[in-house]
Amino acid sequence: MPVTTPTAARRARFAAESPVALTRRARRIHRALLERYPYAHCELDFETPLQLLVATVLSAQTTDVMVNTVTPTLFSRWPTAEALAGADREEMEAVLRPTGFFRAKTNSVMKLSAAIVERFGGEVPGRLADLVTLPGVGRKTANVVLGNAFDVPGITVDTHFGRLVRRFGWTDETDPVKVEHAIGALFPKRDWTMLSHVLIFHGRRTCHARKPACGACPVAQWCPSYGEGETDPVKARKLLAFELAPGALVLPDPPPGPLPDDRPAETP
Ligand code: SF4
Repeated sequence: MPVTTPTAARRARFAAESPVALTRRARRIHRALLERYPYAHCELDFETPLQLLVATVLSAQTTDVMVNTVTPTLFSRWPTAEALAGADREEMEAVLRPTGFFRAKTNSVMKLSAAIVERFGGEVPGRLADLVTLPGVGRKTANVVLGNAFDVPGITVDTHFGRLVRRFGWTDETDPVKVEHAIGALFPKRDWTMLSHVLIFHGRRTCHARKPACGACPVAQWCPSYGEGETDPVKARKLLAFELAPGALVLPDPPPGPLPDDRPAETP
């Protein structure tokens, strides 16, 4: 007789839900995450589409916080695509050095900027089809730029987003384009950009790759993967990489305690 763990039983229960129930549960999780992270936003600092595009390229293999430390110098020294394309390579490498892979990143920024000048008159295009023709720009980067600099709804499938939607049981897909389409079908288009922000915030702060803080998670009751991480509320709370909301003086309300694995899933 096969051994069924509480976590496996929980997953099986969620796997049997209808498409309508899945959509309702997904939207419920989204609402709960909006309450937890009402200030979720793109964590890269930028003022123009060009700045966001370049910052997104620089964010590979490093943190947004690190990128934000170099971009003020980068954009004050070379404020336009023309200037970035014609920069002194060694000078730019010195500015980008703290972000790691600085030679490759300098190369990417200069090539990308040259293509923007040559093919788009120095202005970042506002269409996905054009953005993905730029060197080094894939759908993830293009959607970040569209959603945050052009107000065109976009789903950003980064490492956090992909991990969370699979933990939530929203999709089994691993290919980013398939993930984007599967999740896009669960939500109205107007929600796509903020959905991306709150999932990325949740992945960075609570639902970590190695040790998710399940016992301090605001969506535990709707998550098939509850129990994959620490379920003890006190221990889980210590795992939170929580920053204060901008301007807030206290941490958000204490998160809910753990749920027993045999508790029936709430009807979505
Ligand atoms: S219950 Fe655990 S696995 Fe599910 S979203 Fe929360 S932290 Fe992640």
